[in-house]
Amino acid sequence: MPTIAVLPGDGIGPEVTRVALEILRRVRPSDTCEEYPVGGGAYDRYGTPIPDRTKSGVDRADAVLFGSVGGPQWDGERVPRELRPEASLLFLRVHYELFANIRPVRIYPGLEEASSLKREIVGGLDLVVVRELTGGAYFAQPKEFGERDGVPYALDTILYREPEIVRIARIAFEVARGRRKSIHSVDKQNALETSRLWRKTVVAVAADYPDVKLQHVLVDNAAMQLVRNPRQFDVILTENMFGDILSDESAMLSGSIGNVPSASLGKRGEPGRHFGLYEPISGSAPDIAGQNLANPTAAILSAAMLCRHSLGDSAAAERIERAVDATFASGARTRDLVPEGQAYLSTTAFGEAVAARL
Ligand code: NAD
Repeated sequence: MPTIAVLPGDGIGPEVTRVALEILRRVRPSDTCEEYPVGGGAYDRYGTPIPDRTKSGVDRADAVLFGSVGGPQWDGERVPRELRPEASLLFLRVHYELFANIRPVRIYPGLEEASSLKREIVGGLDLVVVRELTGGAYFAQPKEFGERDGVPYALDTILYREPEIVRIARIAFEVARGRRKSIHSVDKQNALETSRLWRKTVVAVAADYPDVKLQHVLVDNAAMQLVRNPRQFDVILTENMFGDILSDESAMLSGSIGNVPSASLGKRGEPGRHFGLYEPISGSAPDIAGQNLANPTAAILSAAMLCRHSLGDSAAAERIERAVDATFASGARTRDLVPEGQAYLSTTAFGEAVAARL
């Protein structure tokens, strides 16, 4: 039976992960779920944001259900950079080569009013951002921050090698095949050499997927099109930094960052049985932590993605997704989805509402 490493982390992480875990246990009662410390709380207790027992637990697991890490108490100069809570997540992404980040963004039934855009623009929105997660500007060397001839300067490098583009492009084409068979590949090929290679490589990979329509769009235009006419997108394929920005922009179209789950998949495993890390795309929301106010939807839907991509159990995934749809359709809302002064459900009450509809 599969083993799932559960890493709740900091802030709202434990609150939303508890709800997601309860739902996962209902649809997959025979799996083993083991909880491990991670993030700022782990640093306070063990002197590291990712203790050895967490690492070996993840090593043994088939998938990781992750909450969130970080908070103001570990910001600034108080904690060395390499021991900050976020270092735990970077370690997991790099160590397991979790290069493929998949972020589905949908408007759930009745939630059009919660979106930052007009109902007629977002109604029926259903897109997936496939973001390269372990390359590009965030990782490439050299990186410098210093002074030359008395003038402060900083340097970042963007580097992509062809195989890194091929493997993420293949994931995007596979995702598109299971959907409306359309990909917008986002780059900045008029200004960046890495984008020229990106476009050339994606075109070459597309030859293996003649049933999928490929279009190219420059990142500045993509940012504009996402607020002008987001429904034109099915799968958005892009590199690390562009994906970071465009997926947060896309998330707000759904009404709240608390609605959007993610899967980070790596080389381990095979289609349907990938080793992966599943987490809400938001952070630890310290402003509402510990108050039972967080929207647990992203965590619940991350558990659904875990069933689909790591456990090969699409039926369980769909059961969870249908229950979330039905919960929203019934009018249930958490605080982030209603105007000030309107009634809402707590984190746990929303979780119970979803569980009741499984
Ligand atoms: P955040 O995503 O935690 O919060 C941004 C805003 O969205 C806040 O107002 C918050 O209340 C709200 N929000 C987020 N998730 C919500 C939910 N589920 N329900 C309702 N409202 C929700 O971003 P931030 O405030 O910039 O960062 C807080 C901490 O999280 C920082 O320490 C940051 O480094 C960390 N962080 C962690 C991750 C991660 O663990 N993957 C990702 C991003 C940021």
